[in-house]
Amino acid sequence: MQALERLVQEAAALADPQAPGAPKTAEAEVARVMQVCNACRYCEGFCAVFPAMTRRLTFSPADAHFLANLCHNCGACLHACQYAPPHDFRLNVPQALARVRGRTYQAHAWPRTLGALYECNGLTVALALAAGLALFLVLALAMNGTLWGAVPGADFYRLFPHNLMVALFAPVFGFAVLALGLGVRRFWQEAPPGPASAAALGEAAHDALTLRYLDGGHGEGCHVEDDAATHARRHAHHATFYGFMLCFAATSVATLYHYAFGWVAPYGFTSLPKLLGVVGGVLLTIGTAALWRLRRRRHPLQGDAAQAPMDLGFIALLFGTAVTGLVLTALRTTPALPLLLAVHLGVVMALFATLPYGKFAHGVYRGAALLKWAIEKRRPSNLALGGD
Ligand code: SF4
Ligand code: SF4
Repeated sequence: MQALERLVQEAAALADPQAPGAPKTAEAEVARVMQVCNACRYCEGFCAVFPAMTRRLTFSPADAHFLANLCHNCGACLHACQYAPPHDFRLNVPQALARVRGRTYQAHAWPRTLGALYECNGLTVALALAAGLALFLVLALAMNGTLWGAVPGADFYRLFPHNLMVALFAPVFGFAVLALGLGVRRFWQEAPPGPASAAALGEAAHDALTLRYLDGGHGEGCHVEDDAATHARRHAHHATFYGFMLCFAATSVATLYHYAFGWVAPYGFTSLPKLLGVVGGVLLTIGTAALWRLRRRRHPLQGDAAQAPMDLGFIALLFGTAVTGLVLTALRTTPALPLLLAVHLGVVMALFATLPYGKFAHGVYRGAALLKWAIEKRRPSNLALGGD
């Protein structure tokens, strides 16, 4: 009874952040929420967060970071919860975890001083950066007198030589890989789960690639603006992810062609790089357009409103990359090629520049959290309560 009274007092204190006992950080709020859930356990089958929760009695900031990135923000536990607002407990698991997710990226960022960029990496910055870089390239071509006019064989290397493109993009992409790699390493080392078996690796890869935990726990999907379940978010995420991966594969195959076989771009429309790029671009366009629409419609209680600009900025850059790439492919034999190429490269450059400190991080951290969970669940519970 005393424990219940304490929970009620803490829950009521949330309405007044100055009140004694009110959680002072996002991690402390996750600890409060998880302690209530640990007593209730109604949502135990919804996703991996709840079984991971039952292996703990207390929740350190490292636990909060782990659980936050395990959550796929499907919203099912908010709509199922009898303690959700307007109940006095004001329990909102998806929102509490979403807030900590944002803090995870900052807390583990490499280098640490740049972690603050996650807060200002929003829609305005994304659009301004893309426009600024595109304008810079447009002006460079205009000053060269090559901004408008058909290019023989649609050979865009006549405008921007291959080595120049590599010099522009390789360092930016390399830095993104390094920064995210070292960031997620810090996240891993915060609470290392032990070595990964092949089974754990396989399960984590399967769960990540199928977005298993966007099924709401009942297989009917997750929530957008109300308590109706839909697979729309899962499908939109899949189209975006696989579209992005196909575009990446197109670039990788083209790089292989160039360096391993000496086959220099541009490639024919039926070549492998072109086919991968076009299919990937179409999927990416459809997926990001759907994600934008769904993001704008989401119920504000299901996430952290402060992160909406970062989400939308990333979606906008992915959409811009896909659309400008497709238009460039369609009109590559027209005099508009140089202008379209400059705009496309500007958008891609903005996407690359914002990768390490933007929404892209969520895929990397979630993948690491899924692997942590796949390892942890195969180990005996430290609690030894017989519940595993
Ligand atoms: S979210 Fe609510 S219903 Fe679900 S386990 Fe927690 S307290 Fe129980
Ligand atoms: S929002 Fe969905 S994924 Fe996140 S904890 Fe709740 S049920 Fe699990």
